[in-house]
Amino acid sequence: MQEEKQTIPPQIVQRFNKYLQNNALRFTTERRNILEQVFAYDDHFRADDLLVRMRQNGYAASRATIYRTLPLLVKSGLLAEVIDAQKQSHYEHIHSQQEHAHLICLRCSSIIEFESPEIDALQEEVCNIHQFKAVKYRNEILGYCVECQKDGI
Ligand SMILES: [Zn+2]
Ligand SMILES: [Zn+2]
Repeated sequence: MQEEKQTIPPQIVQRFNKYLQNNALRFTTERRNILEQVFAYDDHFRADDLLVRMRQNGYAASRATIYRTLPLLVKSGLLAEVIDAQKQSHYEHIHSQQEHAHLICLRCSSIIEFESPEIDALQEEVCNIHQFKAVKYRNEILGYCVECQKDGI
C-alpha cells in the first residue's frame, strides 16, 4: 500500500527533468518516486535510510537505483551532501532550510544544525575583501556530541 503522493514543487521536477535530459537520462517512474520521497524528508538522511523508508511506503525501489540517483540529485543542485567523519554521505534537499552550518559528531555521526547571522555576515565580508564570488558556504565543525561525551570522550 502506498502512502498519499507527495507534492513536489513543479520547478523542482522541471529542474531534475532538465538535468536528466541534458545528460541523456530518462525521468523514470523510479527516479520520480525517489525525488518525491527525498523531498518528503525535512532532515538529513543516508541512502540506506531512504531505501528503508521507500520500502516501508510500498515502493519497489532498488538499492542500486537509489545509490545511482542520489548523486544525480546532488549534481542537479537539488540535494546537498554532507560527509560525516566515517566518510558516509548524508543528504538534505535544498528546500528543507536556508544556509546553515553543521556540527558533526566523530563518534556517532549525528549532525546538529545551526544558523548564525554573525557567521554569515563575516563570511560575506571575507569574500568581499578577496573579491571572491561565493556560490555556496559549507560550514562544518567536527567533534563530539553531548551524548558521546557522557560516555567519557
Ligand atoms: Zn555523538
Ligand atoms: Zn543540514
